[in-house]
Amino acid sequence: MKTFRAAWVATVRNLDFPVAPDEDVFRDRFRQVLDTLADWNMNAVIFQVRPMLDAFYPSAINPWSRFLTGKQGEAPAGDWNPLALMVEETHKRGLEYHAWLNPYRVTGERYSDDTFPGFSPDEMPMAELLALYVDSGVLAAGNFAVLHPHAVYRHAGLLYLDAGLPEVRRHIVDTVTEIVRNHDVDAIHFDDYFYPYNVPEDEMIGITRTAFDLHRNGFADDRQGRGAWLRHNNDEMIYGVRRAILAENGRSGRNVRFGVSPFGVWWNLEHHPDGSPTGDTTFTYSGGVYADTRKWVLEGWIDYIVAQLYWERSHATAPFEPLARWWAELCSQSPVDLYIGHGNYKHVTAPFHELDSWLDAREILEQVTLAEKLGQVKGSVFFAFNHLSRTDSGGPNGQVLLDSNRLLREHLRGGRYRGIGAVWTMAEQFGGKLKAVSFELLARGRILADKLGVPLVSVLIGDGACEEELAALIRHGADEVYSVQDRALADFVCEPYALVLEKLIADFSPAILLAAATSSGRTLLPYVAVKVHTGLTADCTELDIEEGTRNLLQTRPAIGGNIMATIKTPDCRPQIATVRPKSSRPLPEDKNRSGTVRHIPFDHAAGKVKVTGYRQEGEGGASLEEADVVVAGGRGLKKAEGFAMVRGLAEMLGGAVGASRDAVDRAWVSYPHQVGLSGKTVSPKVYIAAGVSGSIQYLAGIQTGEAIISVNPDPQAAIHSLADLGIVGDAFRVLPALAKRLEGRFGGK
Ligand SMILES: Cc1cc2nc3c(=O)[nH]c(=O)nc-3n(C[C@H](O)[C@H](O)[C@H](O)COP(=O)(O)OP(=O)(O)OC[C@H]3O[C@@H](n4cnc5c(N)ncnc54)[C@H](O)[C@@H]3O)c2cc1C
Repeated sequence: MKTFRAAWVATVRNLDFPVAPDEDVFRDRFRQVLDTLADWNMNAVIFQVRPMLDAFYPSAINPWSRFLTGKQGEAPAGDWNPLALMVEETHKRGLEYHAWLNPYRVTGERYSDDTFPGFSPDEMPMAELLALYVDSGVLAAGNFAVLHPHAVYRHAGLLYLDAGLPEVRRHIVDTVTEIVRNHDVDAIHFDDYFYPYNVPEDEMIGITRTAFDLHRNGFADDRQGRGAWLRHNNDEMIYGVRRAILAENGRSGRNVRFGVSPFGVWWNLEHHPDGSPTGDTTFTYSGGVYADTRKWVLEGWIDYIVAQLYWERSHATAPFEPLARWWAELCSQSPVDLYIGHGNYKHVTAPFHELDSWLDAREILEQVTLAEKLGQVKGSVFFAFNHLSRTDSGGPNGQVLLDSNRLLREHLRGGRYRGIGAVWTMAEQFGGKLKAVSFELLARGRILADKLGVPLVSVLIGDGACEEELAALIRHGADEVYSVQDRALADFVCEPYALVLEKLIADFSPAILLAAATSSGRTLLPYVAVKVHTGLTADCTELDIEEGTRNLLQTRPAIGGNIMATIKTPDCRPQIATVRPKSSRPLPEDKNRSGTVRHIPFDHAAGKVKVTGYRQEGEGGASLEEADVVVAGGRGLKKAEGFAMVRGLAEMLGGAVGASRDAVDRAWVSYPHQVGLSGKTVSPKVYIAAGVSGSIQYLAGIQTGEAIISVNPDPQAAIHSLADLGIVGDAFRVLPALAKRLEGRFGGK
């Protein structure tokens, strides 16, 4: 299972997202949010689409949000749907979209005696107070609260919907249903606000007395009964929302999840035998907000819980670790996924007397690392987005927050997170020159990068590549080139190359890494895959992106070439595949393409291995993989002397010598000349195959040749069916005749 990494993007009071009524402006700003999350290797966004009784989407039952347009009830200009836009943009990047709702909040700013001059908001009838809010433009006339004044109570200058009323809970269920039915969201998410914080049972019942009297359902009218009734109201709401989401999932076949992010202390051990070992002065959630989150976990009414553990490890009464362990132990008894909510904001906005406890820039990183060690913790969520994206070091602890962000970001980018990154292809050079395979891979990578909507990066490790060659990579499809050039990298040696690549992967977190199945690619990539704990599929013939999951589909022949297997690496990144050289064609050069070249310094000590020289493999002559003409022979040439005809013709045409495995096994020619599944893949302009039957394994190596000519007396031989020109005849007659006809025309002998 993937590790969940997300940030909350709060829209209430435009905390993390400004007013943006224009579609282009909104899209632009939301993309900036996604850019940041992708940069941090997060894989989900939790965006507040209903900060109050309002909506960031067209709704039949809730007014447009003023945090979107500046005025509640006012639609954004033009015909567009912000939530649909966000979901689409988020999915394009391969992230999950969690729609965050506040269920009961009617107003967000406390009123005072001066808010409505001449009126006394604490005393006046609710309908009149709500009318004042409508007149002053804070609430829309169609707001559920305005239409149902009896369902609203006031506490400490704020207005709330009364959770004790079935019609209120129905409205919340309808709101969720409307979102899930009309939008492809991945989850519905509620935060920690159920009743106002820390209002004792008796006082709370005093405030919501009418609902209590009307809907008491047998709960006793004493302190215990009242508290139980308040919790029961939230139980009913959560259970109702759960059922509604399941019903919608059943209808649509989707799997929209339901998550809640409560305050991290349920009850203290001191007050409840199942509570956490937290100090008795700590405010408790179930006792103070009447939300029995432990019950929701044990009953499986939610799919995930994000325990807000916003206290530092050294906190006197609610230290991070015992609480994380308490939640891990609880969730081990249930299928509910546990994520930890981290309070990054505390570095800068903790109460003044607490700021000193947040001077350690490693605090959040240590919390995350600690949580990762608890097997039950499936991820982390960070509060809040604007603290992650902050660049200014001003104010108390400003620099601490920036340092904390840097450490955390590095950790997430290099660690277990699986977000979507760029597509990388490895370029290869020899003697300071790029090999053709560098461009072939770019053609493959381009298709994948376009499907994912991510950049295509060409990585070149070596020595002496000039700017012109790096620019050629861009002209052949790369958006960016990462070039690591150093004398110590002049020759391919696995260890230093692997060190470079490992560091690049840790720094930039690519989603996909493709390399050629050349001897260096086949040596380097498995080594790196083991080092970065990911999978590798060798010798792929086809690559594609899976709809929905956006995983890389890696297809290669298996079981002796008798089946094509498609392999995925769903849980690790990058997804690494090697591809045979010549199995695709480079894109035509586009002189107008632009991109960036990044020169990355090589800062490792020289390795233990020294290259002393090179020896030509095979018989010399043109390189089989690079040659324009290949003449190949098989068992039909009868003996080593017969194979000499192939050599002669190849030499005459300035081409390379190829062979079937049978010919190689008979030692008529050496192994480096073998073509096919366990030999080389070639893609010449002309391929002549003489005395070869055309087994499936052989054909796998020549399929992309431009013009294939076969010479075989058996008209049923499989090689003829792939050939552009099939000569049904005896090689001992056809090849000499051909040589005779061509003599002198190629400058050969
Ligand atoms: C896992 C696996 C991997 C393999 N990998 C490869 C690979 O990479 N490359 C490879 O080649 N094989 C590979 N093989 C072996 C493959 O299955 C075949 O056995 C092999 O390709 C046969 O070679 P051939 O065509 O030369 O011989 P044959 O299949 O015996 O064919 C000889 C052909 O010569 C023709 N012939 C006879 N007389 C003449 C004549 N006078 N003139 C012209 N033609 C004549 C015959 O009609 C016949 O079609 C692999 C097998 C396995 C199981």
